[in-house]
Amino acid sequence: MFEGLEKICKVYRMESYAYDETPVPVRPKAAEFVVVKPRNSSEVSEILKFANERRIPVFVRGGGTGLSGGSIPTRKGIVISTERMKEIVIDRGNRVAFCQAGVTLEELSSSAERHGLSFPPRPGAEGATVGGMIATNAGGVRALKFGVMRNYVLGLEVVLADGRILKLGGKTLKNSSGYSLLHLLIGSEGTLAVITGANIRLLPPLRDMTMIAIPFRSAEDAINFALDTFLQMTPMAMEFMEDRAVRIGEEVSGTRWVSKEGGAHILAIFERKEEAEEASEIAFRHGAIDVFLPSPREQRELLELRGKIYLGLKDRIIEILDACVPPAQIPEYLRGSEELAKKYGIDMITYGHLGDGNIHQHPLLFDGWERVYPRFRKELLRLAVSFGGVISGEHGIGVLKREELREFYPEQYGLMLEIKKIFDPNMILNPDRIF
Ligand SMILES: Cc1cc2nc3c(=O)[nH]c(=O)nc-3n(C[C@H](O)[C@H](O)[C@H](O)COP(=O)(O)OP(=O)(O)OC[C@H]3O[C@@H](n4cnc5c(N)ncnc54)[C@H](O)[C@@H]3O)c2cc1C
Repeated sequence: MFEGLEKICKVYRMESYAYDETPVPVRPKAAEFVVVKPRNSSEVSEILKFANERRIPVFVRGGGTGLSGGSIPTRKGIVISTERMKEIVIDRGNRVAFCQAGVTLEELSSSAERHGLSFPPRPGAEGATVGGMIATNAGGVRALKFGVMRNYVLGLEVVLADGRILKLGGKTLKNSSGYSLLHLLIGSEGTLAVITGANIRLLPPLRDMTMIAIPFRSAEDAINFALDTFLQMTPMAMEFMEDRAVRIGEEVSGTRWVSKEGGAHILAIFERKEEAEEASEIAFRHGAIDVFLPSPREQRELLELRGKIYLGLKDRIIEILDACVPPAQIPEYLRGSEELAKKYGIDMITYGHLGDGNIHQHPLLFDGWERVYPRFRKELLRLAVSFGGVISGEHGIGVLKREELREFYPEQYGLMLEIKKIFDPNMILNPDRIF
């Protein structure tokens, strides 16, 4: 099947590309595959022409930090890894970074900083790549104030399934020039084209941040505090953690949280100190047990604690659910989720991005989970949709939420499939993802 491919590029056989960060219980199994590591769009083009002529499935892999099984080769085929596509060129005058697809979040952020600029979005995995973040329309803790990946992509260089290289958009902030194919490709999870490069919008450096850490007695108090705060200001981040999540973060990071008391906790970050002070007053009005203003060193430690909760949880969970609901509907959604979880005998640990309604729910593993879990997750995601929410806020559909996408949005799904066939008539690009 792969005969002749080695004439175009070096071919690797590497088992580590058979998985990503998707939790093991729901992680799809990899089929037989070979790996190629092109350096630019011309090489990607040659590989795709080869695959398209022979109808060989192609899977695209960025940093492999995805949580929906998106980069796992589920059919016998070729994995295109972007790890050698590392060029970054900063155009400081226009505040734009051209990045090849394999540039990581960490590399993009530090390069922007070296040029006196910033890339504000902060999806949680520093090893995520520009290509992967665009393909999933990644979000993260700062989406509340600074938006998601979509808001930072000004131009794209992509290769279509038949090998054609296409440039979309450019370096301008505005673009009303016909259908926005650029935006169609953002969030398309590698099913329409392989992203080889992107012009990413940068901002001036962020001001010094001020953080407050607040234990509340209940999730309800914490959420009401957040909703009230959003009427006065937009924090950079408003992270919610139920008490068990905080204690897991303590264990893994070795850092003590600010309080031993409380059922729900908030980590809020502001650009100005006065905002943090005003938010502290709002917190006390909503029954905060206390409000803590950590020192810069403590701020780093608390962020690490928050960042490491997943590490402590990942071997104990079935999967991470990332439904997103309008922020004011979070209390009803959480109440409904609890009732559902009780009905199915499922225990969930909840934390996540409160500000944008993207709460991450982590159902814990138990014997016999396979029997009830698929029905539970479908009902839970349907609940989110019934509150005006969506089934994935940032992790994407991948291999895991295809059924719900088809069932909950039949008309959109049909249209998406027609679009897919225009871009990729032989259906070779990232099969089993989304569709
Ligand atoms: C600890 C942890 C924290 C996380 N926190 C967040 C968070 O806060 N917010 C968030 O949004 N996500 C988060 N994620 C999920 C993950 O980091 C994002 O989905 C990220 O965008 C994936 O990037 P990647 O380069 O690792 O992509 P991969 O996992 O390699 O791929 C993801 C999808 O993108 C496709 N793809 C990759 N590169 C390309 C390309 N060049 N062209 C076309 N398609 C491509 C793949 O085929 C796949 O479908 C987290 C993950 C972990 C492990």
